[in-house]
Amino acid sequence: MAYNCVVLIKQVPDTKRITGKAMNDDGTVNRSALPAIFNPEDLNALELALQIKDKFGGQITVITMGPPAASAILRDSLFRGADDAVLITDARCAASDTLATSYILSCAVKKVDYDIVLCGRQAIDGDTAQVGPQLAEKLGVPQITYVEELTELNGKSITVRRNIGTGWQQVKAKLPVLLTVTGDANEPRVAAAKKMMKYKNARTPAEIEREMKADNPNANEQDLKSLVEMKQNDLSNKGLLIKQWDLDEVEADLSWCGRDGSPTKVHRIQTVVLAAKESKDVEPNDKGIADMVHELIEDKTIA
Ligand code: FAD
Repeated sequence: MAYNCVVLIKQVPDTKRITGKAMNDDGTVNRSALPAIFNPEDLNALELALQIKDKFGGQITVITMGPPAASAILRDSLFRGADDAVLITDARCAASDTLATSYILSCAVKKVDYDIVLCGRQAIDGDTAQVGPQLAEKLGVPQITYVEELTELNGKSITVRRNIGTGWQQVKAKLPVLLTVTGDANEPRVAAAKKMMKYKNARTPAEIEREMKADNPNANEQDLKSLVEMKQNDLSNKGLLIKQWDLDEVEADLSWCGRDGSPTKVHRIQTVVLAAKESKDVEPNDKGIADMVHELIEDKTIA
């Protein structure tokens, strides 16, 4: 039996490359100063979906909610083996917290035929790990978080191994199901050269509009509209037009989206600087290490 998988992916700032310029003066993240990357654990979620497809067959749809630039990770997913990709982009999504984000994503997932929904465990920017569990709740499907390994898939149910920090659990759930996948689950495959050649020109409508404006700076509004339509039709005929949905298309209730749908209120943003006050040389031998451990236990730094 084949299984249709939906993978939720997020484009995130590369938080490993934080520099002094990474924060704005008001304490918010200066996204333009950081390179945008595929959220690492979403690559593990996609890899697990690809392994399911390799073994059992089925379709993989990747969905992201973000600005037009997030189209890059959709293309990357097509290079790696996804069959279909959707960008949810709409100015009315701005200021969405995790509750609003998971609501909007749930509206989109409901438009797709799925057996298994896969998320990364956590995004490296927002870092809450809330979106997967909230999405499962809104879809009304069971969820298994911290998935490390798929053990069995038999048409009606799925069994996986999940990491519980001090060990692991084997958990069985009925399909359809939502999984959140950890970075230890697998080694994400790289993009396939043939698929890169096939999809390198795939674009979302928002990207086409942006490119047409840049290429034709003197075109008037009407000419620009025709050029965009022509390009969209051309890519659509070649199977290279990436789907783009707004909040109307996913039939979202606007009162659950954006600022209105976000109960989280940011009270204060604080920059924490951890400054080293003192340093101590430790002799590079067993005694030096034993003395240091003893001292750390004495001052209750470790138990
Ligand atoms: P996690 O819960 O850690 O992510 C877990 C998994 O969920 C990911 O691995 C991925 O599989 C999936 N996932 C998460 N987000 C997405 C997504 N967007 N698309 C597809 N899959 C996803 N962010 C903005 O970009 N613009 C804003 O204007 C904005 N305003 C905010 C206002 C407030 C008050 C707050 C609290 C947050 C705001 N955010 C905004 C951040 C936004 O809420 C989070 O980035 C988003 O909800 C995801 O949460 P997370 O990063 O903690 O993801």
